[in-house]
Amino acid sequence: MSSIPTIKHVRAFTLKGGGADYHDQSDGHWIDDHIATPMSKYPAYRQSRRSFGINVLGTLVVEIEDSAGNVGFAVTTGGEPAAYIVEKHLARFLEGAKVTDIERIWDQMYLSTLYYGRKGIVINTISGVDLALWDLLGKVRGEPVHQLLGGAVRDELQFYATGARPDLAQKMGFIGGKMPLHHGPAEGEQGLRRNLQELATMRERVGPDFWLMLDCWMSLDLNYATRLARGAHEYGLKWIEEALPPDDYWGYAALKKNVPTGMLVTTGEHEATRWGFRQLLEMGCCDIIQPDVGWCGGITELLKISALADAHQALVIPHGSSVYSYHFVATRHNSPFAEFLMMAPQADEVVPMFHPQLLGEPVPVNGRMRISALDKPGFGVQLNPECALHRPYTH
Ligand SMILES: [Mg+2]
Repeated sequence: MSSIPTIKHVRAFTLKGGGADYHDQSDGHWIDDHIATPMSKYPAYRQSRRSFGINVLGTLVVEIEDSAGNVGFAVTTGGEPAAYIVEKHLARFLEGAKVTDIERIWDQMYLSTLYYGRKGIVINTISGVDLALWDLLGKVRGEPVHQLLGGAVRDELQFYATGARPDLAQKMGFIGGKMPLHHGPAEGEQGLRRNLQELATMRERVGPDFWLMLDCWMSLDLNYATRLARGAHEYGLKWIEEALPPDDYWGYAALKKNVPTGMLVTTGEHEATRWGFRQLLEMGCCDIIQPDVGWCGGITELLKISALADAHQALVIPHGSSVYSYHFVATRHNSPFAEFLMMAPQADEVVPMFHPQLLGEPVPVNGRMRISALDKPGFGVQLNPECALHRPYTH
């Protein structure tokens, strides 16, 4: 057996000039145009998510170099605070280890940060390191990550599109369209009527069969979410997403009982680890869980979350995250389709999610992607050398 390289060096970067995670878009982009949020009750923070700081963390890039000169990397959010955690705390569990020591490294990263971690930015950071490790292992082995995970179970992925224009997504070949909800409870009955009117308008444009979903980004309360779901039933809403704050497991369990028969309740984009998802699954909170592989604990943890979901008859449709999700989705029976985030400002064309940071990022064609588009080693993408990196801390 050939010898397994050891990990020589771990480095964490932000993007020079800060900012530039996918939330950080300029005025006029659909992703920051009066989207309902938990902060919408404060009028001053209602129009823009950037106004309350959705973009403050920025991007985290983790690079892991081994003794044979291979370099694995990953991109997620987390920025400078995450870079600090990688350099000052987590790097010690990697350097000197074998590139195959992924389970042990995850366990040590998680256990050693329990006193200040468990969720949020710490698990976000651990996710970035874990994704970089899988990328490195793929490069060492000369295999795509989906192959390391047990192999693809389908020949192609099919996608729904998230963006303001499901009608355009339909023309581009996607199987469905998920729109942001624009008005929260603080905008009263008029806001609720507007939300339903937007859905009605879109239903008219796409016809009766195209999937339409609403992403509520944690903005509602149980009563409002129930009324929205019941009103939206008439327009064939397929699912109501992340209606409540992520800590309100009891609210989700009640909402799932309240929604009309056939409508799905989805959540989990801001949930983390097998323990967080266990809570959602055991309490019967939702039909589909939507972990973000860059936030929930990485691929290593997502495999465990997914097995748990499978045993609870729940689908796992990861939140966005491009190639980091695609390699996983390809290998899971309970992930029959994937999300594509429309990053074009008017949601009118398919562009790579991580542009310009990544090169070689595949995108769906006619709403589909052949698994052969994912056949390069690791996650199959490169850092764009034109995006200057900044290493704020060293160890
Ligand atoms: Mg969402």
